[in-house]
Amino acid sequence: MASFLPAQFPRFQRSKRMFSPITLRILAVNVLALGLLVVGILYLGEYRRGLILSEVSGLETQGDMFAAALGEGASANLPDANKTLVFSAARQMVKRLVQKGTRARLFALNGSLIADSGELIERSADHPIHANENLIEKSLRLAQEFSSRVIFGEPDLPLYIEPPMQSAANFPEAAMALNGDYSGMVRETVDGGIMISVAVPVTRNGRVLGALLLSKGSEDIEGALFDVRLHIFKVFLISFGVTIFLSLYFASTIARPLRKLASAAHIMRVGMNQRDEIPDMTNRKDEIGDLSMAMRQMTQALWHRMDAIESFAADVSHELKNPLTSLRSAVETVARIDNPDARKRLMDIIQHDVSRLDRLISDISEASRVDAEMSRAKTEKIDVRSMLSTLVDIHQAPLDADPENTTTPRLVLHCDSQENYAIIGMESRLVQVFRNLIGNAITFSPTGGTITLSLQKNNNWITVLFEDQGPGIPPGSEEKIFKRFYTERPESDDFGNHSGLGLAISKQIVEAHGGTIIAENILSETGTITGARFCVNLPIS
Ligand code: ADP
Repeated sequence: MASFLPAQFPRFQRSKRMFSPITLRILAVNVLALGLLVVGILYLGEYRRGLILSEVSGLETQGDMFAAALGEGASANLPDANKTLVFSAARQMVKRLVQKGTRARLFALNGSLIADSGELIERSADHPIHANENLIEKSLRLAQEFSSRVIFGEPDLPLYIEPPMQSAANFPEAAMALNGDYSGMVRETVDGGIMISVAVPVTRNGRVLGALLLSKGSEDIEGALFDVRLHIFKVFLISFGVTIFLSLYFASTIARPLRKLASAAHIMRVGMNQRDEIPDMTNRKDEIGDLSMAMRQMTQALWHRMDAIESFAADVSHELKNPLTSLRSAVETVARIDNPDARKRLMDIIQHDVSRLDRLISDISEASRVDAEMSRAKTEKIDVRSMLSTLVDIHQAPLDADPENTTTPRLVLHCDSQENYAIIGMESRLVQVFRNLIGNAITFSPTGGTITLSLQKNNNWITVLFEDQGPGIPPGSEEKIFKRFYTERPESDDFGNHSGLGLAISKQIVEAHGGTIIAENILSETGTITGARFCVNLPIS
């Protein structure tokens, strides 16, 4: 019986690539979405910090100018040549100089409030700064605040609570300015906004006369942030659309072909007699292409196996019918005739047919078992030389002990004693192959002939040659002899002992080892056949 995985089906090979295209596609989409989000968040956090810093430096510049103007225009000389602020003039100047949206407070050296522009619109927790924002704006703001605090660990800002008594002691930055230092603070207000304040010392001739505290709300910052958030939201919308598009693309390039393959497999399972094809997607250079190729090869192997089983069953019934027909007619005839000689001849035929049937049935059962047994059997390291020399010794020992026997063919083994002829395989099955080849060679050898076994090693292969001096193989039948039930032997041979399955089983075993077996005739220089040669090639690993 031929091997169920014949040579015409190339072994399935996964396409060799460094990265899986499907994994790359999935990674690209996820990393892209993640990247956009991270870039957006980082950009917003940085942007907000930048805005606050520029507001602080703007206030500082403004404060410097105010303080210089106040030092010049609202100071008066004291009798001891010292300077002091003239409160009424200072109040007037503060009112005139201060810009809309900025609150200016001027503190005297003792910390008491001289002037307060009060321009800053006071809000309360009941009127939060974000009261008018819509759902999208609110979600964007909360997401950004969350990322700033939780992801980037930005500290909470100190809370600004309007003190009932306006005094420099309540504003650390103002207190520092009274000591001649510049300082600023960023606070959170109860309405959810932020307040930036900068305190600048008011000086004249290097002497501190008071402290100017400029404060500004976060409307400008919030407005700018809102614009940016809106841009990020637009980017999000675009990337959302792209993700949806890519997901649909994935669905069509991954999910749909997989569904196609699954339904083709289902159709084949349901209608086993229909030779429907698994869709050919082998031109795709990814895992789905691999899967399609594997499934196609698997179904081809299955069909081939089913064909093999079918034709094996047909061959078996045909082979069994021949001896049975002969048996039936012999049995029918023997019952009708009385002639003892004729009866004996018929009884011989019956015995012959029964023994042929017996041999056929055991060989058939052997052939049908080999495949399953081979798939279960454990492979081991085999020394081919010691295997062959044991077989040769078994044959030669009785002959060597009986020098008078010159008729039985002799066996000789040629090999390199230094070489290592180890392979991985199933020992008992390989012994079966070699015994069969030796057995055939013996039956075809002339009286006293020599059968030469040669062991060779080339690269990754071990080759065993079996050469006899018999009549050779009928020209043109070199391949046919490996077909099951093919048998062609001289009339004198015991017909009942040959089922024509020996070489077919041998081929099956050798191919299961990944090897090959071929037959050819040995030709003399004049071109006449001088014997048969069987060549078994076995891979070393
Ligand atoms: P069987 O031995 O039962 O006939 P095989 O499958 O072993 O079946 O062999 C098939 C056929 O191959 C044989 O009948 C014979 O015709 C041919 N054959 C096998 N070995 C040799 C050989 N050494 N010399 C010539 N012919 C051979």
